[in-house]
Amino acid sequence: MDIFEMAKIPLQQAIEAMELDENTASIISQPEKVLEVSIPVRMDNGKIRVFTGYRSQHSTAMGPAKGGIRFHPGVTMDEVKTLSFWMTCKCAVANLPYGGGKGGIIVDPRELSERELEALSREYIYKISALVGEYTDIPAPDVNTNGKIMSWMMDEYSRLRGYAVPGLITGKPLTLGGSLGRNAATGYGVLVSTKEAFKKIKIDPKTATCAVQGFGNVGAFSAQLLHDIGVKILAVSNSKGGIYCKEGMDPYAVEKYLQGNKGILAGFPGSEPISNADLLELEVTVLVPSALELQITKENAARIKAKIISEGANGPTTPDADEILKEKNVLVIPDILANSGGVTVSYFEWVQNLSRFYWTEKEVQEKQEQIMVEAFRAVCQAAEKYNVTPRVAAYIVALGRIEAAMKARGWC
Ligand code: NAD
Repeated sequence: MDIFEMAKIPLQQAIEAMELDENTASIISQPEKVLEVSIPVRMDNGKIRVFTGYRSQHSTAMGPAKGGIRFHPGVTMDEVKTLSFWMTCKCAVANLPYGGGKGGIIVDPRELSERELEALSREYIYKISALVGEYTDIPAPDVNTNGKIMSWMMDEYSRLRGYAVPGLITGKPLTLGGSLGRNAATGYGVLVSTKEAFKKIKIDPKTATCAVQGFGNVGAFSAQLLHDIGVKILAVSNSKGGIYCKEGMDPYAVEKYLQGNKGILAGFPGSEPISNADLLELEVTVLVPSALELQITKENAARIKAKIISEGANGPTTPDADEILKEKNVLVIPDILANSGGVTVSYFEWVQNLSRFYWTEKEVQEKQEQIMVEAFRAVCQAAEKYNVTPRVAAYIVALGRIEAAMKARGWC
């Protein structure tokens, strides 16, 4: 099963549980607009190479489309369409005034020189400029794209318009209107939703323990912020292996160690090695999968001992594992809720760009917390009302809001 097949199962369960109106269901089954573009780039050897790119706007019912741009050899139109639908749902769970979009180019960026990459980025945004814009469709970084690429795209689009348009795109560096708090935003969202889960099942964070799979952007911030509220971090891992400290570790010291040790966690003072598979099955209060998809499956779900799973990564748990975890009373905070901190602070970046008025990091975090707490509570209420898993409940919340917006606009 791939991640797209996987997303369809809880979605279908949500449609059935809430008896979603047939008209709404048929409108959201297709993106509103898709564009395929050819992108000729003069390569360093003087020859022209033509790349293919896509942009999909799934929905604009709740506001302009919002979603990243990925550079990957495996990008397809179908993938981009599905991911744009996912963004519609993620934005709606957080109740952001956005629909969903996604874009991509079929390319392995590691094969390009910096000049070629810049030329590709600029030509792509030029080619999709009829679709994107600060009030219509706002891109962001995704797999293999970053702040530098966003800056080139913002610049190219601004040249077309004749004035600076920072609100075109989010994930920019601070100097071009990026938001404070964006780097930590997804980890901060994992913290906020985990704190809500602690309250819900009456756990004092100071008595809690945690294991984090994937000590990258999301995982490292999650570990550090949970550590700050007193949670004991027992294990962390990355693609090169994991470490376990019976008495808990300082994730700030782990990050420093990692930087000086070529990205290898092994050998961190006071730790012993642990495999990624064993890490998932540790006796901990919270498990934060923040690396890859398809990690908790029907093979290992029965052996999971965590009371809470906060999904930092996209798609780490399969639907059949969800059922097993529900039976075991494990509280799973689904990806479209737990990792929505990233898109929430992207929304703040856009708001700041439109108003040309910038917030402090504290303001960003306070506003993020408010949005994510409300989203968490809405999902819990729906899970109780419809007696479904939190993942299905998150889709119910999203679809309910999208349907209400469509009805109010007279679309169905
Ligand atoms: P990242 O590249 O910064 O970190 C990923 C980490 O996972 C790295 O430490 C890597 O070594 C580790 N990893 C890779 N393979 C592994 C394996 N087999 N076992 C254990 N660890 C492994 O990426 P990120 O930005 O932290 O994203 C992680 C996940 O979170 C992805 O699923 C991503 O889609 C999702 N996500 C990220 C954001 C964001 O704002 N960065 C927002 C929403 C969702």
